[in-house]
Amino acid sequence: MFCRQCGKSLMPGANFCPNCGVPVNPAIFSPSPLNSMFRPRANRMLAGVCAALHIRYGWDLVAIRILAVVLGVLTFPLGEIAYLAGWLLIPEEATLVPQTYSDPQPR
Ligand SMILES: [Zn+2]
Repeated sequence: MFCRQCGKSLMPGANFCPNCGVPVNPAIFSPSPLNSMFRPRANRMLAGVCAALHIRYGWDLVAIRILAVVLGVLTFPLGEIAYLAGWLLIPEEATLVPQTYSDPQPR
């Protein structure tokens, strides 16, 4: 078992990394269902909130978007506020590649 943050090996059952102090299993510390949600970077219309629901619950993406628009109109401005809340609360998908692109340096 290794730290996700710094890659240092961890003691079995450790809650925090002894090197950088990052929680080993953040799910224990934030049992919110939002914890397992993320807004994907691809396949999003606006902020990816509908796509996050689609990934988390497996609901049909088109149906979610139609529902979001209908609810947004019917419940204005509550639907918009809920969407903004989801935007703020649901973390963005983690990038596996560096965000800043740099040309490969010749060795
Ligand atoms: Zn660490």
